[in-house]
Amino acid sequence: MDTAPLIDPFQRAITYLRVSVTDRCDFRCVYCMAENMTFLPKKELLTLEELDRMCSTFVRMGVEKLRITGGEPLVRRDIMTFFRSMTRHLDSGALKELTLTTNGSQLSRFADDLYAAGVRRVNVSLDTLDEQKFARVTRWGRLPQVLKGIDAAQKAGLRVKINTVALKGFNEDELFALVEWCKSRDMDLTFIEVMPMGDLGEEDRIGQYWSLKDLRRDLASQYTLTDLAHRTGGPARYVQLEETGQQIGFITPLTHNFCESCNRVRLTCTGELFMCLGQEDNADLRSPLRASDDDGPLEDAIRKAIGLKPKGHDFDYSRQTIEGQMTRHMSHTGG
Ligand code: SAM
Ligand code: SF4
Repeated sequence: MDTAPLIDPFQRAITYLRVSVTDRCDFRCVYCMAENMTFLPKKELLTLEELDRMCSTFVRMGVEKLRITGGEPLVRRDIMTFFRSMTRHLDSGALKELTLTTNGSQLSRFADDLYAAGVRRVNVSLDTLDEQKFARVTRWGRLPQVLKGIDAAQKAGLRVKINTVALKGFNEDELFALVEWCKSRDMDLTFIEVMPMGDLGEEDRIGQYWSLKDLRRDLASQYTLTDLAHRTGGPARYVQLEETGQQIGFITPLTHNFCESCNRVRLTCTGELFMCLGQEDNADLRSPLRASDDDGPLEDAIRKAIGLKPKGHDFDYSRQTIEGQMTRHMSHTGG
């Protein structure tokens, strides 16, 4: 068995795997899904056992951080079985972190179980603190349910980070309210630039684009911002607000090129491995997984795929047209 670490052609070590465990969701966020989505038939999805085999293989090959996402990961039936099965890799020390990104709707049910499985941090996506606006942007979501979920997560001992998509004309007026709310609850906050994912038809995504450069300038009108050096190998950059000591993150795939330090790949719920969020290149890992009980062919397929990881992505808004627009939805690759 070849257990050399996964290194891509640009000498980046691949230590971080994001796994989408379902394409389904109980929300229909306007920038993410159409209201009437057709979801994949169940047989297309990796079973929980297959997800375990897949993730365990990556862990054996050097992945140290797993982020479970979707769709909404907590709506997948029996998903706690999967989380619990990953605990053994935390216990062995091979896996350093098991975490998830969630819309928070099911957290009040699962927070304690997640903690018991070894999860210590969760990212909760929340774009507004206004009930009506929340219902508008998520279409099917209800704010009180999510707030209850956040309460439960904190009570269970999970560290919560809020992810907020910056949307022009939608949550610009809540910038300070969100910052202060996160401060009052001791939660980190990261803003995400809206990305041109999927072909949703109805929404003008350039119209929705609120540049984080502008957001940062607004923030600097009330706070002293100090750039922080630490990086996570991803597209986030952090500042500290000197007045409050808070850390605020910015994920700016469109205005910054963050690819040089990229340490991650993404597995979809059907077993396709995407080497880059902004490129269509992908490798089918489900076939080698299903073809044999032996993990050898799967390991070979993973190594071959990592050998094809591109240098960078093609998103570009600079010409006011959406260059490099992706036809797949974020809920497919898991954001
Ligand atoms: N359902 C979970 C949630 O909402 O956190 C996990 C999956 S969701 C696809 C992951 C993240 O992608 C969320 O923070 C969401 O706000 C973000 N997202 C979805 N569509 C996006 C887009 N077009 N541009 C930027 N972020 C997007
Ligand atoms: Fe669901 Fe998350 Fe997409 Fe919203 S962003 S529709 S919660 S998957």
